[in-house]
Amino acid sequence: MSNPLVPEARIVLEVQKALAKSLRKEPAAIRMDASVIVDLGGTSLDFLDMTFRLEQAFGIRLAHQTVLDHVEETYGEGKAIDASGALTADAVVLLKSRLGEDAPLQAGEFADEVAKLVTPGTLAQGVREVVAALPPKCTHCGATDWKSADGAKVKCGACGKDAAYPDGDSILKAWIGKLATERKLFGA
Ligand SMILES: [Zn+2]
Repeated sequence: MSNPLVPEARIVLEVQKALAKSLRKEPAAIRMDASVIVDLGGTSLDFLDMTFRLEQAFGIRLAHQTVLDHVEETYGEGKAIDASGALTADAVVLLKSRLGEDAPLQAGEFADEVAKLVTPGTLAQGVREVVAALPPKCTHCGATDWKSADGAKVKCGACGKDAAYPDGDSILKAWIGKLATERKLFGA
């Protein structure tokens, strides 16, 4: 599922622009598979800044909690990260399903290492998931006439209001719930 009004190339371009601004680099220096922390020198403040820039560009709200936070909130403490701060086997299954099966992760690894695997591509995936959840009808007037003048922000052609997308955290939560049921993770 994707949003035909927001092309993939536009998402990549905006991610590169947002990261370049936050990290004070040239957009061309932002490789989509680089580690934002290790290769691009990003800090947690930079993450807040780039997230905000992407939210503004697309008129969306991205997830502000990590997958591991969501797991602990929904299924209980210790389900994703054990008492010593290490990843559980179920958390590794979940993370690999999100970051790629070849992600260098294993049970027992420190959960802090996970942030280092976040790439510009991961952020693009977050944007893609939210824009793909465009409601079929305008939630303000009920019209089915979405338009985008810039290929990023979607507005209602009838009432002119911005599309009201579900937020990134609810989308992430729903995704985790589905996977947990399918793969029998976290005692679901
Ligand atoms: Zn409308």
